[in-house]
Amino acid sequence: MNTDKDSSNLFSLKSKIAVVTGAARGNGYAISEGLRKYGAQVIGLDRMSHPELIESKKCIKCDVTSTKDVAECLKEYPRIDILVNNAGVSTPRPFLSYPEDIWDETYEVNLKAPFKLMQYVANAMKDSGGSIINITSLNAELGFPDNPAYLATKGGLKQLTKSAAMDLGKYNIRVNNVGPGYIATEMTRPSWEDEEKRKARTEHTILKRWGQPEDLVGVCVFLASEASAYITGQDIYVDGGWSIKGL
Ligand code: NDP
Repeated sequence: MNTDKDSSNLFSLKSKIAVVTGAARGNGYAISEGLRKYGAQVIGLDRMSHPELIESKKCIKCDVTSTKDVAECLKEYPRIDILVNNAGVSTPRPFLSYPEDIWDETYEVNLKAPFKLMQYVANAMKDSGGSIINITSLNAELGFPDNPAYLATKGGLKQLTKSAAMDLGKYNIRVNNVGPGYIATEMTRPSWEDEEKRKARTEHTILKRWGQPEDLVGVCVFLASEASAYITGQDIYVDGGWSIKGL
């Protein structure tokens, strides 16, 4: 048994190359900056269709639903160590009239793109192993109204992670889910700006506050690093306790 592992730098990401999608703002921006602080070289990809909302100056313009775009952006990197599939869209509409084009877009971004990226990146991880983190949601687990495509794709991504963990483990590629609770970003701005909804969500959260994008950094550094070397196929919820609340 090897007990010689140096535990003083378990969280170091020095010399690691990381790809983070949806990195121009919100959760993806915070995760990218966090991985950088721990030493990783981060390639942030984002379609940047809302230039006025961009927080990062370091992103490459890339629509992750385009295999061609992704291959072009990553062609200089024969080795990739970390992938964070963070780009996501949520377009709430009533179930009975949910538009097919919105369903298709949500599926393309939230489920198909992470699959294609995992396929692509796993080939660049195969020789030396790696860590893939898929950003799911409480919607992967629990019922929420008026957002069928979001629930279906996040639930699908949760299971896709298990499939990838099973099939990529032999290459020492670990695949895990991080499920955020209510985090204050552009995506959740409509509920944040509605005082009643903002209060109700705060009240339901055991820790009695909304999350900030920075709350996701610790768990992503952990899952990207050697500190989690024996963890794969798992779901970790960063939700202030929302998902375990009974009464
Ligand atoms: P934001 O909407 O603030 O940011 C998402 C980013 O992803 C945007 O910059 C967006 O670009 C980009 N993006 C969307 N589609 C694509 C694409 N096809 N190619 C490249 N980039 C794309 O969302 P959050 O930061 O809140 O969410 C990030 C992730 O966290 C998502 O997967 C979301 O589902 C998940 N999550 C968020 C929660 C929250 O409370 N905020 C809760 C649970 C999960 P553009 O400006 O062009 O749209």
